Amino acid sequence: MFDKIKDFAYTLDCDVKEYVPMNEHTSFKTGGKARLFIVPNSLESLEELIKFCKSLDVKPYILGNGSNTLVSDDGLNGVVIHMSNGFKKLEYCGGGIIKCGAGVTLAQLCMLALEYSLTGLEFAYGIPGTVGGAVFMNAGAYGGEMKDVVMMSSHITPNGERSSLSGDLLDFGYRKSAYTNNGCIITNVVFKLETGNADAIRYKMDSMLAKRKAKQPLEYPSGGSVFKRPQGQFAGALIEECGLKGKTIGGAQVSEKHAGFIINIGKATTKDVTDLIEFVQDTVQKEKGVLLEKELKVVE
Ligand SMILES: Cc1cc2nc3c(=O)[nH]c(=O)nc-3n(C[C@H](O)[C@H](O)[C@H](O)COP(=O)(O)OP(=O)(O)OC[C@H]3O[C@@H](n4cnc5c(N)ncnc54)[C@H](O)[C@@H]3O)c2cc1C
Repeated sequence: MFDKIKDFAYTLDCDVKEYVPMNEHTSFKTGGKARLFIVPNSLESLEELIKFCKSLDVKPYILGNGSNTLVSDDGLNGVVIHMSNGFKKLEYCGGGIIKCGAGVTLAQLCMLALEYSLTGLEFAYGIPGTVGGAVFMNAGAYGGEMKDVVMMSSHITPNGERSSLSGDLLDFGYRKSAYTNNGCIITNVVFKLETGNADAIRYKMDSMLAKRKAKQPLEYPSGGSVFKRPQGQFAGALIEECGLKGKTIGGAQVSEKHAGFIINIGKATTKDVTDLIEFVQDTVQKEKGVLLEKELKVVE
């Protein structure tokens, strides 16, 4: 079955690799090998590839920058589709509208917005994901979220058809969107921003980045905040109050700098990370009566 998909992907002019170490494609720098790793070079090739996978009853895993993804140490005995090459187009269309491929990074998008003095995306500067991953997750920070700036999103359905969502149909919520459960692959996103002042936008972007550097352990591999914010509380504060800062299992550690982060202090395995996540969840549940829900996507 993998050989069939590999051969078909070659005919579509996709980049195809086998047994690709996922620690090279996730910000945690852990995880085993993906059996088949495909990078489509166009929307058409993605469309055909999805139809072919569907005919074989295969559901590929869609990967952006891997900054919210943790892959099992046993690897992924399936097909990974990496949203990069064919989905990097980024253009300003005037009137505050930016059209953007799903594989564009948030940093690239924010820099384009700055170039045209467009405000609204400053919050996203420093979130290390792609536009596709950010819409999927409704990524947010410092009071802003994708929900505030996304006008429309195009996608390929699990049957390989092109479609799109806009407005309320995007169903954005806290770290979720319509895409969280619909199995579609985001291909392009349209943003609506307001005209602002370039100096003020640059200042806001720089200060948010400085805040991140001061508060987050960016010097270590991680997946950012491991847990969603429980209603009315902060996961990091609850974890710290339980005395878990510095708690270490193998190469995984609850950051001393920000207890909401688990960091890879060197040679961590995914099992180290998931064991530590469970330990933190059990401790906080016992001591605080709060069940911390994972924000990270764990893939097996
Ligand atoms: C240091 C650090 C700081 C962070 N700070 C923040 C923060 O402030 N706020 C925040 O919200 N997040 C933060 N994150 C988490 C992460 O960067 C975001 O969730 C980001 O949006 C994930 O994008 P990605 O491309 O890396 O997604 P991935 O990790 O590659 O994928 C995440 C999920 O999205 C799906 N997906 C990815 N691309 C597509 C697509 N094109 N179509 C359909 N599904 C897709 C994947 O299948 C997966 O389920 C941080 C992470 C790190 C490491």
